Amino acid sequence: MPADTARSLDADKSEGEREIERIFALQKKAYGENPFPSYDRRVAALDKITRLLEVNEDRFVTAINADFGNRSKYETIIAEVMTTASGVKNAKKNLKKWMRPRGVATPLHMLPAKSKIEPQPLGVIGIIAPWNYPVELALAPAAAALAAGNRVMIKPSELTPRAGEAMRDAIAAEFDESEVAVITGGIETGQAFSETPFDHLLFTGSTAIGTRVAQAAAKNLTPVTLELGGKSPVILDKSADMEKAARSVAYGKAFNAGQTCIAPDYVLAPTDQLEAFVESVARNARELYPEIDKTSDYTAIISDRHFDRLKSMVEEVRDRGAKIVEVGSSNALHPQRKLPLTLIIDPPRDSGIMKEEIFGPILPILPVASPEDAIAHVNAGDRPLALYWYGEDDDVRDQVLQKTVSGGVTVNDTLWHFAQENLPFGGVGKSGSGAYHGEAGFVSFSHMKPVFYQSRFSSGGKLQPPFGPHTEKVLSLVRKII
Ligand code: NAD
Repeated sequence: MPADTARSLDADKSEGEREIERIFALQKKAYGENPFPSYDRRVAALDKITRLLEVNEDRFVTAINADFGNRSKYETIIAEVMTTASGVKNAKKNLKKWMRPRGVATPLHMLPAKSKIEPQPLGVIGIIAPWNYPVELALAPAAAALAAGNRVMIKPSELTPRAGEAMRDAIAAEFDESEVAVITGGIETGQAFSETPFDHLLFTGSTAIGTRVAQAAAKNLTPVTLELGGKSPVILDKSADMEKAARSVAYGKAFNAGQTCIAPDYVLAPTDQLEAFVESVARNARELYPEIDKTSDYTAIISDRHFDRLKSMVEEVRDRGAKIVEVGSSNALHPQRKLPLTLIIDPPRDSGIMKEEIFGPILPILPVASPEDAIAHVNAGDRPLALYWYGEDDDVRDQVLQKTVSGGVTVNDTLWHFAQENLPFGGVGKSGSGAYHGEAGFVSFSHMKPVFYQSRFSSGGKLQPPFGPHTEKVLSLVRKII
């Protein structure tokens, strides 16, 4: 290409695109110079993440609070800072074991050769994070990628710009940009980011954007982990402790005002217990958040657009005659974008609220005649990211576990499977593909390279041409032992 054409193409690029290209080239080069960072170096990188979480906790709390309008300080500490720190601690504890080559059995007729799976860093990992937990969903996968010996580029959401800046500063204070860098910017920057030929790309966000990101990555044959969303059901069994279940559902739904990928989206309750369950969820929610307009415990909706979307979902079912229980009044709350927990009893199945992921503090509660009915309802929709089952009848529980497919499950509670570092976290079907957390994250960001170590005493030569009667003899022996 002539130099002036190349210069004019470069001039067409946005500042974000140029920054992505510059850092990607820098990280690729650094990877080439040290493609297999030592255990000590990886531990040092994990320690930097731990330190930046400690040093920046207040800044993260303040930044996310400003981005949301109001984000509970304790939700930020629990779900962003502590969850990430505990993942890093677990990675440090297990890293030596994860890095070790894993011996696997070699067929008898190939002995005494050896077969091993040897984890190897992939190179440069891209991470696209959403706004709902802007620090955790960027830094937890980054820590997994660093444990696996990679370099990392992070693109935070434009909807949480202060959190993005705080992360950029915190990362820059600890890491050279050839190791970890944060690229802030809008959707165009996100698009350019997803077109970058990373060695692996982890995207956390909506199914709609995830589809586009997967298509952009496919052009480079970049493998992707897609951490998406969807409608995560709660199945209340008639054997459940209803009061405990109601408290747990109220908590799981109201946490971060329902803006959680694995928030319970809707409840399937036995018909004859539905009314009592609604009353119990409302009462428990009132106890958790007595005055949502006055307490900073109750998080706001991220933007006016998201707030209006949720309000209009409620208006649609109100107009269509559904019974609605609002836990607290929303009249005065518009300026604060606080939406009270809103229970919708038996809404029409074709309403927006039953078709889209809600992602806010609205909880449809639907009657079901039997566990089979509940299973059929779940299976009629896309495979969910999470499923929650409450009850004491183990046979029914096992039926539900065996006959539904979801990314993950918590039995007799909500949300908490996410925090189990040794359980892989990810979706299935429309709720995502691939997984991370714990060893699953290390494996996702490694090339698990199969290596066969031939023995000096290999008998392989006996099967080489020229073939003849000796070949028949060897084959008949091999046939006996395989
Ligand atoms: P989103 O899909 O709108 O955005 C996610 C990220 O993609 C943001 O950083 C955004 O800037 C970027 N982006 C937007 N358009 C892009 C494009 N064309 N190309 C490349 N990048 C682009 O999602 P959101 O609104 O930020 O987050 C909410 C969604 O995320 C919900 O569906 C929720 O369930 C899901 N989520 C999933 C998980 C999980 O772990 N599975 C966790 C949190 C949120």
